[in-house]
Amino acid sequence: MNPIAEHVFSLGDLRAWARAGGTGDTGIRLAVFGDPVNHSASPPMQQAALDTCGIPATYARIRVSPEEAAEAFRLLHAAKFIGANVTIPHKAAALAACDEPDARAVRAGSANTLLVRGEKLAGFTTDGPGLVRALRAEFSVDLRDLRVLLLGACGGAGRAIAFQCAEEGCERLVLVNRTREKANALFAELAPSFSGSRLVGPAARLALVPWEDAAIRAQMDCVDLVINASPVGLSPADPSPLSPSLIAPHLMVFDTIYNPPRTPLLRAAEHAGARAANGLSMLLHQGALSFEIWFGREAPLATMRKALLDCIKP
Ligand code: NAP
Repeated sequence: MNPIAEHVFSLGDLRAWARAGGTGDTGIRLAVFGDPVNHSASPPMQQAALDTCGIPATYARIRVSPEEAAEAFRLLHAAKFIGANVTIPHKAAALAACDEPDARAVRAGSANTLLVRGEKLAGFTTDGPGLVRALRAEFSVDLRDLRVLLLGACGGAGRAIAFQCAEEGCERLVLVNRTREKANALFAELAPSFSGSRLVGPAARLALVPWEDAAIRAQMDCVDLVINASPVGLSPADPSPLSPSLIAPHLMVFDTIYNPPRTPLLRAAEHAGARAANGLSMLLHQGALSFEIWFGREAPLATMRKALLDCIKP
């Protein structure tokens, strides 16, 4: 393992690189910013891609606090970075720091990919498009053809997925979120995109239901795909975010969680005979899309997948 990929750098390091006009011998030109950041799978995945493509750059991990994030993003240009990935909890701050935010990132309210473009900072979100590619790879389906139930709709990943559903013009979207006020606001933002009548049948194209079995059960006849975008399932003690009794064999179930690889939701889906996939392919494809943004070329998917599998082995 490259020692730089394991080291956690700080705002102090970034300030020093900015003063020096670059990162010197380290060769660092890309990084993931988060808090915490030591568990991120992006450094080994992206470094493998850089090495395979013969791009002379090193990808690092940099931990910054919420108070430090805005300054860190402003220093990227002076430190001669190509760009960055951004993870919890800085995706909204990353968007706010951008001079040139992409329209999709603005709609989602977050940026997970930054590109230093001359003296400007451009920002993108690749979570939504990454999910589209992941669904094609896992289930051979297009998001636009599906009726989707989205659990944890109002988090960073949930909003990116909800707005991707709107952008694709998917048949139907049912929002489920723990905090009702946030869900009401998201529903209002999405409503104009779901005003057309694509769907044949009585069910509303956009719906919002409480996170309760009876309310969710009433929706399940008009749902093809369940997506969990909440962190419920990350901890071994967590229950399934959807009652196992609500999962029918015709469903596709996608958990954005990739570690652990078999969450309680995925176990319940398998038990019910439904098709199920974890978030590994979304992680892979959002990373591949970041690579494409930085370098304007196709990402080496097979290499990146192997690096991911090696680093998140249970
Ligand atoms: P986030 O911004 O913190 O959002 C969390 C969402 O889950 C919110 O809607 C929140 O609801 C809800 N939530 C949190 N704890 C809950 C609980 N105990 N019960 C019910 N709902 C709960 O997090 P995020 O960045 O969106 O990440 C969410 C998940 O997506 C994580 O597991 C992460 O690993 C995964 N993810 C995967 C990928 C990938 O590429 N595979 C990419 C991004 C994220 P409230 O509105 O009520 O707070």
